[in-house]
Amino acid sequence: MDQDTESGFESLDPQDWPAMRALAHRMVDDALTYIETVRDRPVWQSVPPEIAASFEGPAPRAPEGALAAYEAFAAHVLPYPMGNLHPRFWAWYMGNGTVGGALAEFLAAVMNPNLGGGSHAANLVEAQVITWLKDMLGFPASASGLLVSGGSMANLVGLTVARNVGAGADVRHQGVAAAPRPMTVYGSVEVHSCNQKALELLGLGSQALRRVPVQDDYTIDLAALQRMIDADRAAGLQPICVIGTAGTVNTGAIDDLNALADLCTREGLWFHVDGAIGAVAVLADNVRHQLRGIERADSVALDLHKWMHIPFEAGCVLVRDEPAHRNSFSLTPEYLEHGTRGLAGGNLWFSDYGVQLSRQFRALKVWMSIKEHGLDRFGRMIARNVEQAHYLGGLIVAQPQLELTAPIGLDIVCFRYNPGGLDDAALDAINRELLLQLQEQGIAAPSYTTIRNKYCLRVAIANHRSQRSDFDALIEAVLRIGALLSGSTSVAS
Ligand SMILES: *Cc1c(COP(=O)(O)O)cnc(C)c1O
Repeated sequence: MDQDTESGFESLDPQDWPAMRALAHRMVDDALTYIETVRDRPVWQSVPPEIAASFEGPAPRAPEGALAAYEAFAAHVLPYPMGNLHPRFWAWYMGNGTVGGALAEFLAAVMNPNLGGGSHAANLVEAQVITWLKDMLGFPASASGLLVSGGSMANLVGLTVARNVGAGADVRHQGVAAAPRPMTVYGSVEVHSCNQKALELLGLGSQALRRVPVQDDYTIDLAALQRMIDADRAAGLQPICVIGTAGTVNTGAIDDLNALADLCTREGLWFHVDGAIGAVAVLADNVRHQLRGIERADSVALDLHKWMHIPFEAGCVLVRDEPAHRNSFSLTPEYLEHGTRGLAGGNLWFSDYGVQLSRQFRALKVWMSIKEHGLDRFGRMIARNVEQAHYLGGLIVAQPQLELTAPIGLDIVCFRYNPGGLDDAALDAINRELLLQLQEQGIAAPSYTTIRNKYCLRVAIANHRSQRSDFDALIEAVLRIGALLSGSTSVAS
């Protein structure tokens, strides 16, 4: 007797396939409408207390059914998004996602493979995506790579290889204490915090991260870097790696990558590039020249869920020296023995190149998105954001009440409302409140940063939906709210 046709047989499959099919079609329809009409809704709104309260309570013991689960999502989750699909979302540094990317995410889950290893087509998809990204950055075919959750994990993987190569001891076996001298790693003061976390996790300690001053354009000061390396060597420390940033999170500055590559060659140091923001801008005609030298890096971290708009999560690490990469992560107990035939055959064992064994099929949304749009369209979206940053900069400079607080790097604009006659403390208070009102009124979602002790609004335009009129609307709202705030005495300090 075939067990699958047993009456009353329980599994996690739908009990009523036609009903599930109808629900699935409804989900797709609702989802497309939701994305198509995103501009008509506020960028963001806070979750009302009664909705927040709906997330309390224990897990159901008995089925509520797929329809009820979807209706709870539609009523309580979908209406209160982070906002990053919206054309006027410019907070932190995010991507918008795409319709095609979302559908690919669904298809990846339908197949539900595990990309730790084995012989199946999904691994070929990831391998091809990595090859495409290597080609894009000018890395040699012999380099290795891995898709990861994002820039943080990509930096961790790259820095792990850097540490293992530079330690002067077998740290996988003996631990970091076996290194003859304490290791040091260099990055500018603008280096992303995830690199510090990585060094902490790698057992080097946050003090191993030497923070090099920047120049007026927020790129790393090469002379200062050289002096710090020399001083550390003289003090008996062991410099192992320089982190160049291709697109800093505060201002979008790109370090001089060729100069860093020269320095690393001269000093015998690993050259890692944190390109979470900017590496994909090699696709953009108006940025590519600033990234010269990235092809000389020993490792590069890049994000695909930021300026390429692949739905979260999608990042990639590339490593020039494939054996060094594999030797940092490969560990093959008998239950993972790679075969020459059958399901465990083939050479594509991505678990040999990173932390995770079980790995999702995130490659599919990247692969299908690149096929759908082609790399050149992504390049045009990136180039347009850079032009929009300068358009916004022009609007700011034209208004006496507005002050550009840093040079525009890539697609990041920092400015503040400054009508004159107020000290920095008062301006900080006004601009803090101004930002909150922009967000709470659902008009626009910039974020903020502090530049040379000035609180400012930070507009990071990684957005394929933003149009010029969106920046006009932002400036209009900033001037209106700013005038109200600076004319009133009720600004909270
Ligand atoms: C966002 C970012 C990271 C971290 O990447 P995640 O994808 O958020 O993990 C690292 N470096 C820079 C420069 C970034 O902008």
